[in-house]
Amino acid sequence: MLQVQDLHKRFGGFAAISGVSFDLEKGVVMAIIGPNGAGKSTLFNLITGHLEPSAGRVLLGGRDITGAAPHAICRLGVGRSFQRTNIFPHLSVFECVQAALLAHRGQGRNFWLRSEGLYRAETMALLASLGLQDKAESLAGELSHGNQKQIELGIALASDPDILLLDEPTAGMSAVETHETIALIARIARERGLTLLFTEHDMAVVFSIAQRIGVLHQGRLIAEGDPQAVRADPEVRRVYLGE
Ligand code: ADP
Ligand code: MG
Repeated sequence: MLQVQDLHKRFGGFAAISGVSFDLEKGVVMAIIGPNGAGKSTLFNLITGHLEPSAGRVLLGGRDITGAAPHAICRLGVGRSFQRTNIFPHLSVFECVQAALLAHRGQGRNFWLRSEGLYRAETMALLASLGLQDKAESLAGELSHGNQKQIELGIALASDPDILLLDEPTAGMSAVETHETIALIARIARERGLTLLFTEHDMAVVFSIAQRIGVLHQGRLIAEGDPQAVRADPEVRRVYLGE
């Protein structure tokens, strides 16, 4: 599904990503872990076209997408969320997700024509799958942080992605919200057969849903594999788990 080949990203003289390579098979849930500043968000931005690599390639289903524009990569089936919540605070929850559905289908201008009936059933179905149906008419910006993250997930799912990249989907959530959100993401990934790449700080969460884990440290992927192998890796234990 996704191949990252010897990816590099420099910001001036600083190497944020250095020679990262990995393959992600269809339907697999993979976590990228690593301390703050390790390069996780940069790696996601390189994959989704929000940053251009200094060197290396990104392939999607065997097709080279290196340097393609974010909207083009989205159209090829790559959905994402951002570390900082990215919703439309002045729209209702319904309108946020409806706008994303319309935009994905090239009908963005219909949104501004107040075509409230367009994709109503589909929007409500998506909201129901996120547990947001009762909040459809609420203003997105007035909901809890956890609900706003769920709206963001709905916006990402509106593009009907094959692969979803979630950058710290539980950032700033309470333990209860984190647990609920991860269960929700795992269920949606399973139901849709999604390939999922996510970053997360909470190791209990990572080990509860990831089938593969990549460990980034100072821009390098120091370990990659199934959770048991990564947990047992001596370098991971030393630099990341602090042992
Ligand atoms: P993480 O998501 O793992 O916390 P980031 O990918 O956000 O890490 O950042 C990795 C490193 O790259 C950090 O040292 C950060 O300061 C630096 N960095 C990220 N984006 C930029 C940028 N646009 N310009 C300069 N440095 C950046
Ligand atoms: Mg980050």
